[in-house]
Amino acid sequence: MDRDIKEVLLTEAQIQARIAEMGEELTREYADKYPVVVGVLKGVVVFYADMVRQIKVPCEMDFMAISSYSGTNSTGKAVVKKDISADIKGRHVLILEDIYDTGNSLSFTYDYLMEKEPASIKICTLLDKPARRKPGITLKPDYVGFTIPDAFVVGYGLDFDEKYRNLPYVGILKPEAYSK
Ligand code: 5GP
Ligand code: MG
Repeated sequence: MDRDIKEVLLTEAQIQARIAEMGEELTREYADKYPVVVGVLKGVVVFYADMVRQIKVPCEMDFMAISSYSGTNSTGKAVVKKDISADIKGRHVLILEDIYDTGNSLSFTYDYLMEKEPASIKICTLLDKPARRKPGITLKPDYVGFTIPDAFVVGYGLDFDEKYRNLPYVGILKPEAYSK
């Protein structure tokens, strides 16, 4: 796997240090709130497992899965493939995401969960690619791990064609890896 990587963008140590910092903020934010931490599958799983262990207050863990249609005429439409199991009405929700790119998926997830009438929703994304944001997307993540340039990244949960999710760092693929 490593030999398909052109450049390591974020090392394991950099990621863990930033997660520890965000953990301190989130621990303060959610003291006495017993939040529901919602992870959007599958890309978030590695970040989720590390992040949630740095939120040092009681929380409930939950997951959802959506599929987005991201053709050239993308309208930002998505469908829920797996819903959360918690009843979040009146609860504080923290959405964890791997990457905020065009903004379609997260905006959809946010609106979908908002309809369930939670007390609050905040968003924490490991990576943010603001250069790719679609016009009209106004949602802003409350916590951002790293702002990265407009490049397709893999590792630490992020895949190309379902591969590379288990790399412990975030890297940029060599162009020849796409044609494999
Ligand atoms: P959106 O464009 O809706 O903000 O992002 C949707 C999804 O596209 C993300 O959750 C992620 O699964 C995928 N995605 C966006 N940018 C990248 C990237 O650089 N690398 C990988 N592996 N997936 C990405
Ligand atoms: Mg993905």
